[in-house]
Amino acid sequence: MPFENETTFVRMQKQGREAEFHERYERALEDVRRYFGKEYPNIVVRDITEERKIKDVSPIDGSEIATFQLASKESVGEALDVLNRNYRSWYWKGYVHRAMTFLRAAEMLSERKFEFAALLTYENGKNRTEAMADVDEGIDFMRYYALNLIENQGFNRFTGRGYDNEESMSYMKPYGVFAVIAPFNFFAITVGMTTGPLITGNAVVLKPSSDIPLASYLFVRLLHEAGVPKEVLAFLSGSGGVVGTALVEDPRIGGLVFTGSKDVGMKLFHKISEKVPKPAITEMGGKDCVVVTNRANLDKAVQGVIRAAFGYAGQKCSAASLVFVQSGVYDRFLDMLVKEASKIKPDDPRKKETFLNPVVNRDAFEKYRNLIPTLQKEGRVLTGARVEERPGFYVHPTIVADLSDDAYTVRNELFLPILGVLKFSTLEEAVRRINSLDYGLTGGIFSEDPEEVRYYFENIDVGVVYANRARGASTGAMVGSQPFVGWKLSGSTGKGTGSYYYLQQFLREQAVTVAH
Ligand code: GLU
Repeated sequence: MPFENETTFVRMQKQGREAEFHERYERALEDVRRYFGKEYPNIVVRDITEERKIKDVSPIDGSEIATFQLASKESVGEALDVLNRNYRSWYWKGYVHRAMTFLRAAEMLSERKFEFAALLTYENGKNRTEAMADVDEGIDFMRYYALNLIENQGFNRFTGRGYDNEESMSYMKPYGVFAVIAPFNFFAITVGMTTGPLITGNAVVLKPSSDIPLASYLFVRLLHEAGVPKEVLAFLSGSGGVVGTALVEDPRIGGLVFTGSKDVGMKLFHKISEKVPKPAITEMGGKDCVVVTNRANLDKAVQGVIRAAFGYAGQKCSAASLVFVQSGVYDRFLDMLVKEASKIKPDDPRKKETFLNPVVNRDAFEKYRNLIPTLQKEGRVLTGARVEERPGFYVHPTIVADLSDDAYTVRNELFLPILGVLKFSTLEEAVRRINSLDYGLTGGIFSEDPEEVRYYFENIDVGVVYANRARGASTGAMVGSQPFVGWKLSGSTGKGTGSYYYLQQFLREQAVTVAH
């Protein structure tokens, strides 16, 4: 049971099986169409059909994939009721049972990885290598957490004898029911956020992203098949506002795991603890910066920045959205960067050679279009700032230079293929300016000088940092290797996903003493 880690595509390529990868992917693209054109229920043990519906739309051409339910407040209440009654028996099955269930689920997902990846291509527009890497990461989250739980014996410890006639244990126990509010950009995040609370013995209400409801729905079905009881895992598609708010306002909720925008995350974070303190793990985006110094290998830097800024159309929390370039190489680096970026055209992600996919939905497309005048006012647009007039949501990679630190483009997360460029003179100055941003998720530096790299690592206030990473300057964390953790406005707990510490956040300690 090895980790997928370096990704199925890279592994098959190394084994000389690239053609087979493409054949299987193309077959899957055809095969998954059997799921389309149908209506899917919510699940709280039974299937629930709601009065109001939402459409699952493909960013490839704006076509409808399927119909989902808009959960009512009653369904939220029903879920909390059922799940609260059942989570204890799931916990008392023991950590080995729960870990084995998720290892089984990981095997099942691994067997169906082409199917899930192809679905993502239709639902959130990922190209085939990104989609497959996403499913691989989901599989690895399940395996990593299962092994972490077993290795630590469920985090329970014998704590000894206080008095001679006493024996004590520290047990790590669940809180009850977690609300899981998932984002559209990584299926792996839905998988990881669902696995964390469940594997530790909590129950979960999953509110999937309305952009990937089908992959999320099939994942929940897969978990039920793998042995996660329906009584502890409910699926409620609907509006984040309605379902999220109803969940966190209800006294029966035990905790929250959220990944998404800062505004929604902060609101839910405050709401859930209004009356009783509760764990709230909120991951809320980034404004990730890459530093290119005079001592950088510029070829590497260009490659890394292009991948990090425009991979998955900039819709990663880890995407490079600003690049700080030192004055000595500013003009040269910009020339090289713009030359590369202008070669990239957005296209249908089903095509084998597509790098830049459409953005996820009409809102993202309109947001990009509406930003164009701001970009032109705030800086020098060197490439992009235009959309494609065709069905689907295709926009061009954009580079804006000479921005000032207080520009809207610099201070706000855009979540689009838009890269801002700023000039700096000393590394100290660049680090200070980056640390003044509200977010603190990922970052990267390109420099061949170890002293510069050391200074950067010692002083930068972000959770995930990379030096000289040509495969994606600030992106591409792997489960277990790079815990994915946000500081400041980017995350509420300072513990990363795919990290040794992640699961402990879903548990509360109980000190148990028996005297005899
Ligand atoms: N784990 C992904 C990466 O390192 C990013 C996750 C996200 O964007 O939310 O690129």
